[in-house]
Amino acid sequence: MKGEIFDIKHFAVHDGPGIRTTIFLKGCPLRCIWCHNPEGMKRGKDLWVKREACIRCGACILACQEKALRMAEGEVAIDRERCSFCDACVEKCPSRAMRRIDRQAEAEELVELVNREEIFTRVSGGGVTISGGEPLYQPEFTLELLKGMKAAGIPTCIETSMFASWGALKGILPWVDQFLVDIKLLDEKQHKKYTGVSNRLILSNFRKLIKAGKPVLVRIPLIPGITATEENLRGIRRFVSETAPGIPIEVLNFNSFAGTKYRFLDADYFDEGLRAFSAEKLEEFRKFVEEEG
Ligand code: SF4
Ligand code: SF4
Repeated sequence: MKGEIFDIKHFAVHDGPGIRTTIFLKGCPLRCIWCHNPEGMKRGKDLWVKREACIRCGACILACQEKALRMAEGEVAIDRERCSFCDACVEKCPSRAMRRIDRQAEAEELVELVNREEIFTRVSGGGVTISGGEPLYQPEFTLELLKGMKAAGIPTCIETSMFASWGALKGILPWVDQFLVDIKLLDEKQHKKYTGVSNRLILSNFRKLIKAGKPVLVRIPLIPGITATEENLRGIRRFVSETAPGIPIEVLNFNSFAGTKYRFLDADYFDEGLRAFSAEKLEEFRKFVEEEG
């Protein structure tokens, strides 16, 4: 079975225990305004233009039969409506500034690839992490991928928003060693405002997942003024400790570089001026979610 991926990260150290290979599946039902992987939001073909790498040679423009590319104000501009994804510009670009960000991959091929790095992951207590996008947006492929990894003896982690049917989540339970669960906002109205969807399904799935007895790590992305507020963090901490006392919570610093990726896609970013929290502030947040019940 083939699935759609947009990236593979090798030797990842923040996506679960030990050193891991992280596979990013394309497509997500949420639209978090701060998403640091905007290239993983939509399913389907996509192209990004990394203008920082462009040497303005014009080779891509000459190669494009659809006349989708031109130079505007000293930069390559793309008319995405005209692009037929023929890849001529990608092949001609000498500086790899043009890049396709969608890729079809066989589950078997990915298992083989992860297996090749097994020497590093095994020694460190790592394995594979299936991330996205939202892996459960491609439920059958995710299931096949997880089954294949387990059959090859590779420890598995999944990073999920849990915005999926309980049936899909239940189906993968036997093949997942560790869940990394994002809880972003506890207030339903705020959740709808900033992610585009209600959090009811997420919270209901979280309760069911805890009952199923699987190892879970809750992760909260710290978005200045949105999720990183005392009220929200206290609310999530209370919800988690009431549902599952002892479940660890981790805070993830704001990624201030995400805006660059939006420019590659000619998409708007919600706030270019925001910066990541300092190490001291991050430590304060970490202690706060650990200590407050
Ligand atoms: S992928 Fe093909 S059609 Fe699209 S911009 Fe590049 S050369 Fe033009
Ligand atoms: S081929 Fe690559 S380097 Fe040359 S103008 Fe196009 S994007 Fe820039």
